[in-house]
Amino acid sequence: MTGQLLNKRQGLVAWLTLVAISLMPLSAIAQTQIKLHSNKYSTADDVKLGRQAAQEAEQQFPILRDQQVQNYVERVGQRLVDAIPSQFQHPEFQYYFKVVNARDINAFALPGGPMYVNRGMIEAAKTEGEMAGVMAHEISHVALRHGTAQATKGQKYGLLAGIAGIAGTILSGSSQVGQLAQAPFAVYLLKFSREYETEADVLGAQIMARAGYDPRDLAHMFQTIERQGGGSSGGFLSSHPSPNDRYARINREAGLLRVEGTQRDSREFTATQQRLRGYGRAPSMQEIAQSGQRYPAGENTGNYPANAPSGRVEYPSARYQNVSIFNGGVQVNVPNNWRQINDGNSVWFVPEGGYGQANGQRVFTHGASFGVGQTNNRNLQRATEELINGLAQGNNSLRMNGGYQRTTLAGRTALLSTLSNVNEATGRQENVRVITTQLNNGQLFYMVAVAPQGERNFETAFNNIFRSVRIND
Ligand SMILES: [Zn+2]
Repeated sequence: MTGQLLNKRQGLVAWLTLVAISLMPLSAIAQTQIKLHSNKYSTADDVKLGRQAAQEAEQQFPILRDQQVQNYVERVGQRLVDAIPSQFQHPEFQYYFKVVNARDINAFALPGGPMYVNRGMIEAAKTEGEMAGVMAHEISHVALRHGTAQATKGQKYGLLAGIAGIAGTILSGSSQVGQLAQAPFAVYLLKFSREYETEADVLGAQIMARAGYDPRDLAHMFQTIERQGGGSSGGFLSSHPSPNDRYARINREAGLLRVEGTQRDSREFTATQQRLRGYGRAPSMQEIAQSGQRYPAGENTGNYPANAPSGRVEYPSARYQNVSIFNGGVQVNVPNNWRQINDGNSVWFVPEGGYGQANGQRVFTHGASFGVGQTNNRNLQRATEELINGLAQGNNSLRMNGGYQRTTLAGRTALLSTLSNVNEATGRQENVRVITTQLNNGQLFYMVAVAPQGERNFETAFNNIFRSVRIND
């Protein structure tokens, strides 16, 4: 937009306006002006409430431990934060961005700046601009202080009580205040009014333009979400007003804005998506809620090495399913929340989050695998040594603890070897148990069980699995 909008017939007033506005950045000429709502809280209150809610959020949601992805999302987020118009910049606010290992297309921000972007949202977005659009919308809720503004209004009508209400600034499937008590994510259930949502769309579009993104990408994201069915299942659209109205409103605003520079690094965005898809299926918010698992804060906040597998790992289910592997040659019971992954010659059973990639290789942090090794060694211990030497080649830190222990596997003589290792992806100490026995044809059958040290419920699961093995050879 330039001053050409004004024509001569508008006379002196127009001319004076032109002089005045020509001193402003061009993009500010015609855009919608947004005002802060009355708010009885201080910006320091926003920060404090947001911090408390963030602590709660990080115990309820699995944060993805992938430094490379986190860094990328943080960079995009900071670029948007830098583009917040000065009247909405609150120096006390500290924006930061974390990725939640959940598949729903969603994101939420808390007062004062903490923001959580679902992995599903990043995977669904077609472009970096679409992802940035959702983030700019959420940043706008924070910058406009919608959480505490809504609480200011709410308390006047006696609708809200305490921090839960104030912090509940989020996108979610449910908007009934009455449901707050039973809801798994009580803190996050409050919905913004349509007016606030429109403001966040408009300011979001303005922030995008100032950051060099095409504001229409926010509108495009609604289409992307709708196409992927995100409107129905507790996702971004279900908690927001009609996507058609918003689409039109954002595009109208986009027509008033000039995009400053261009920020389209599609390579980094694509690489991030590929990385995320490598983790396999993320749990849904509902599954996270139903698992009832809490994520102790200490575990979420550390520095994880690059390439670490995804955040939280589900505990092994107490229910098992019988699985047949190696063309029916082996039957085994595994927790019914584990999935099968065929990795070269071995078959792995792993919980969600229990595997990932490091240095281009698949890395397992939790799970059990089975395999059959060719060997000329008829001596079980020698054959087992061969196998462990082979394992050590891919795992430099693998160390044997003590000797071989005699045991029984599927009714036949077996050896248990207990080893320790440092996981390539997480850098954590892990226990590795190798159980070997011989098949009738002389081949070595083995089970390898891996879990970080001290994870007792995995020990129990491994024992159950081990005891259930049946071999038909
Ligand atoms: Zn919103």
